[in-house]
Amino acid sequence: MFQLSRQQRRKARRDAIERGRKALGCGLGAEIAEDEALGVALILHERLIDRSRPGGAAEAAEIAERLLQRSLATDLKGLEVGCRKGCNYCCAARVIISAPEIFRVANWLRENATARSAQLQLGDILLEAHRRDGISFQDRIAEKVMCPMLVDDACGVYEVRPISCRAVFSMSAEACKIALVDDTKEMPLVVPTMRKGDVVRSVLLAAVSGAGLSDRGIEYVGGIRIALEERDAEARWLAGEDIFDAVPGAERRPDARQLQDRLIGFLRQLAE
Ligand code: SF4
Ligand code: SF4
Repeated sequence: MFQLSRQQRRKARRDAIERGRKALGCGLGAEIAEDEALGVALILHERLIDRSRPGGAAEAAEIAERLLQRSLATDLKGLEVGCRKGCNYCCAARVIISAPEIFRVANWLRENATARSAQLQLGDILLEAHRRDGISFQDRIAEKVMCPMLVDDACGVYEVRPISCRAVFSMSAEACKIALVDDTKEMPLVVPTMRKGDVVRSVLLAAVSGAGLSDRGIEYVGGIRIALEERDAEARWLAGEDIFDAVPGAERRPDARQLQDRLIGFLRQLAE
């Protein structure tokens, strides 16, 4: 893709977007085709740089989550996983997500919390987020407090739950229960679904970085608080303001960034 003329770049971009659209329809296969991943990244990138309408970040997250959902069937085929509605030992885990996913959940909560469920209350979520603010990051990890989005033991934001939650499957609920109280034990996670989650995260974050926005991982509950409390949070973030800079989080590991970095390189080459 080096030294393409403007015309060739446009054609390569159009072709890649077409492949991306197909991938969005069918999901990604077990073997990841980078041209499909690039196509989806270009589609998400277009949403993120379009400042003419609000909600581009949440929309990009929604597309990425839909892609993950369609892609998981291949990885779960023939497996008897232990995951069931009401099983939630994994919801005590530290969740680190991207800014677009935070806006998607926050927008949904604004419209649905309280109205839909007497137990999913914005006030309670914000209260819990403020309580966690006073606890060090290390203590938060050690504390293993349950996610405040749980309602009657099930995920109260199931339809908009982040990639980190969607990609987690385990072969045994009992083993998850033991791992929650015994740090020497691990949840028997389904590795291919975790990897697929990583791929989709790479696609989303490549689009985010390519749009010149912060791709830092953000602690879920703290991020939701900022998105709900700050005025015009999504528009300000899309304009380049790092409104989450005070929220703990994490940079991605270099090995997890490899696909993301390759996609950013391709995105730049295909930029108009
Ligand atoms: S990952 Fe473990 S704790 Fe979470 S739903 Fe599945 S079996 Fe239950
Ligand atoms: S968002 Fe839902 S699935 Fe994710 S940790 Fe919270 S309750 Fe669990």
